[in-house]
Amino acid sequence: MSLIDSARSGTITEEMRIVARQEGVTEDFIRRGIAGGHIVIPISPYRDVKICGIGEGLRTKVNASVGTSSDIVDIPMEVEKTRMAEKAGADTLMELSTGGDFTEIRKAVIANTSLSVGSVPLYQAFIEAARKDGAVVHMREDDLFRITAEQARLGTNFMAIHTGINWETVKRLRNQGRHGGLVSRGGAFMTAWMLHNDKENPLYSEFDYLLEIMKEHEVTLSTGNGMRAGAVHDATDRAQIQELIINSELADRAHAEGVQVIVEGPGHIPIDEVEANVILQKRMTNRKPFYMLGPLVTDIAPGYDDRVAAIGASLSSAYGADFICYVTPSEHLALPTPEEVYEGVMSSRIAAHVGDMIKLKKRDTDLEMGHARRDLDWERQFQLAMNPARARQIRNERTPADADACTMCGDYCALKIVNRHFSF
Ligand code: SF4
Repeated sequence: MSLIDSARSGTITEEMRIVARQEGVTEDFIRRGIAGGHIVIPISPYRDVKICGIGEGLRTKVNASVGTSSDIVDIPMEVEKTRMAEKAGADTLMELSTGGDFTEIRKAVIANTSLSVGSVPLYQAFIEAARKDGAVVHMREDDLFRITAEQARLGTNFMAIHTGINWETVKRLRNQGRHGGLVSRGGAFMTAWMLHNDKENPLYSEFDYLLEIMKEHEVTLSTGNGMRAGAVHDATDRAQIQELIINSELADRAHAEGVQVIVEGPGHIPIDEVEANVILQKRMTNRKPFYMLGPLVTDIAPGYDDRVAAIGASLSSAYGADFICYVTPSEHLALPTPEEVYEGVMSSRIAAHVGDMIKLKKRDTDLEMGHARRDLDWERQFQLAMNPARARQIRNERTPADADACTMCGDYCALKIVNRHFSF
């Protein structure tokens, strides 16, 4: 029985109990959220994972993506990135390799993490077609579904699948044009395949077959965002919204069939359009879990895009996004290093927390930190810090003359001066 079937029949499973404990909500809140399609718990019958709930009323979760490219295939480095992502506190991992032996890499990543792992099966299907037959447009439809099932059997918990690109979506893309082109690899592969073969996207036309595979292997479907804007000037355009409409309808069908479903969202969005995107997404999908990619709120800070995305992610999380995909400092420039993966996860965790301070009113730790700072209680500050080791290292590298203060103000520590005269 699937999690949705259990939830609908009133059964509280062990996974629901774990999420309820983690989030400080009732077990029935989780059960009702799953039954209604507002919460998912990505699981797999092939692998035990650290259970993680995603959706309405829960802490915003952070995904880190790893994986090779056609230029850099280094499995030990991908394993190191996997470890770094988990060490930095990522909630889930996506394995998005586009170079090397796909199965070997995925097995190595899965063997080295306890997190739920996601994938994009069409990458493998299109790239294997390019290797074998010379171009991605020669991908065979059966291979797409075969590879989806194979990846599920390896223990993949959720899959981003580009279901919302159909002829209507492609027409909107062509009619409106774009400043930043089409930046989703999945979106580009599928659009090129449709145009070359003059055929509908099989992930859309054979959606029921796709659902059978998802259901058989208990994979959570994440409807892919192939039309997301890759430039802030393209945000919220017709192609993006058309794809969202299609994905919203398909997400309802998936949920009705007992398949857990997340809906992905854009992309590059200026700050004044972030709230509208969250409202649109939540409204159209009947409050399905919203997986926000970024969003990047400006295009002109390459080298710092983890921070650019963190600004957008904090806003989207505050407005209601449930799950955010990290961005590393090397976004738009190169495949990230393990250290950049760590930085990207930390930036996204900060953003998720900032959002949760608004969305869930989670401010207890901030209150405690305020008190610890006021009291110059350095050990407590380190304990409460999101990255205690980093906070401790910075302070220890610049030892103050007065052990109570720090080298910022030294003898003129504002807190120490006032604390001598009265206690707060
Ligand atoms: S020295 Fe300045 S920055 Fe450091 S703890 Fe005191 S008031 Fe804060």
